[in-house]
Amino acid sequence: MKRSKIKSLFQDAPIQTRVVVKGWVRTKRESKTFSFLELNDGSTIRNLQIVADAGMPGYDEVIRKISTGACIAATGMLVASQGKGQSVELQAESLEVYGTADPETYPLQKKGHSLEFLREIAHLRVRTNTFGAVYRLRNAMAYGIHQFFQEKGFYYVHTPIITGSDTEGAGEMFSVTTLNLKNIPLQENGAIDFASDFFEKHTHLTVSGQLNGETAALALSDIYTFGPTFRAENSNTGRHLAEFWMIEPEMAFYDLNDNADLAEEFLKYLISYAFQTCQEDLEFLNKMYDNELISRLQFVLNNPFKRLTYTEAIDILTTCGKKFEFPVGWGTDLQSEHERYLVEQHFKCPVILTDYPRDIKAFYMRANEDGKTVRAMDVLFPGIGEIIGGSQREERLEALEKRIAEMQLPAEEYSWYLDTRRYGSAPHSGFGLGFERLLLFVTGMANIRDVIPFPRTPGNASF
Ligand code: ATP
Ligand code: MN
Repeated sequence: MKRSKIKSLFQDAPIQTRVVVKGWVRTKRESKTFSFLELNDGSTIRNLQIVADAGMPGYDEVIRKISTGACIAATGMLVASQGKGQSVELQAESLEVYGTADPETYPLQKKGHSLEFLREIAHLRVRTNTFGAVYRLRNAMAYGIHQFFQEKGFYYVHTPIITGSDTEGAGEMFSVTTLNLKNIPLQENGAIDFASDFFEKHTHLTVSGQLNGETAALALSDIYTFGPTFRAENSNTGRHLAEFWMIEPEMAFYDLNDNADLAEEFLKYLISYAFQTCQEDLEFLNKMYDNELISRLQFVLNNPFKRLTYTEAIDILTTCGKKFEFPVGWGTDLQSEHERYLVEQHFKCPVILTDYPRDIKAFYMRANEDGKTVRAMDVLFPGIGEIIGGSQREERLEALEKRIAEMQLPAEEYSWYLDTRRYGSAPHSGFGLGFERLLLFVTGMANIRDVIPFPRTPGNASF
């Protein structure tokens, strides 16, 4: 008989049919004449209750082997449940054990565990309700992202993970090399001789697919990337990972306003997609971790994001009377505490800040007429701060070359990129959404290590 997933049994409730279910035992309660098993197969956060009568053939032997964490198959009749809170349950005719789980050593016993403890057993934490919910939401958001863009006629583009150029012109990248670290070839001046390395040049793991994405947008019009990105920044915060996933749409003929419109529509679409696909998981997370999760998601869904310039935001921050840990003034980059003040206390809604000082932003952002600011935008969210960073790109060859020279970036490395401006240049814009930042918001989890299956952070690459 074909195995049924527990989710479909709750959905269709085919009472009085024989079914087979397979999954992992969450709890076992024994009495003299029967046992209750709670079975979870990951298809839903809900467990199926299995009632095994002591009269079942081979009962004693099989029940003895079953404990929390064991993997079993159960065959029997699906019946309406007597107990409250359950619509259906399984009356077992036979049980088969695939894998036992020694109660002396299996770390996930019935009591709740701290998230810190669960991080140490990241290979097993997916078997908890919490991480089952997080993994399902992660899956739904990934699918929703593709659906959003595909419905709009955007093309999914794969950009390289190993790169010879640094998008931002900033450091903080992981090197990729096959050089013998015990005997590094040097040039006469003492610099490393990358000519004998695998790619015959110094290469890195990508920090962003944007520059490559732009080349595609200037032919296909609307594209997006969705892939892993790497940053060797040593920031041990609850919002930074060394390896994270990023979604980067890039659109020809979009100005900064169009860009902000798309970002807002995108985020709202994803939140509503989470409600459509993961209602029970959201209810669980709302109950267990963050009682305001669902109301916060609904609020963001139903209210326009506040848009203002960086300069206006600085005015608010410098006159609000609040003491910040990091000083704030025109020209400084905003810290998370400043972003969260604007969102959580001043406006009490998501905020899109635009037109940042050019000196704190990347070389490719379009210069404004004032000579001081660029067409940048950051989307700031409650509890998180920056969730999206984007800009209208500098499409004028001369202005871009000038900026590259001013910032002392290696112009030769960008010659292919400059070709997009040399030939058939077009106004265009794009942004980057950190996938795990989105998941922090949608799950209500407080630490980014808890929304990716196996987090990579400074000092930690276990599993
Ligand atoms: P932050 O100021 O928060 O460190 P950033 O300005 O360096 O971020 P961008 O270069 O604009 O980030 O990257 C685009 C998006 O990628 C950010 O808006 C954020 O959602 C996400 N992001 C950036 N760095 C990280 C990281 N280390 N871990 C997880 N997500 C990140
Ligand atoms: Mn940014």
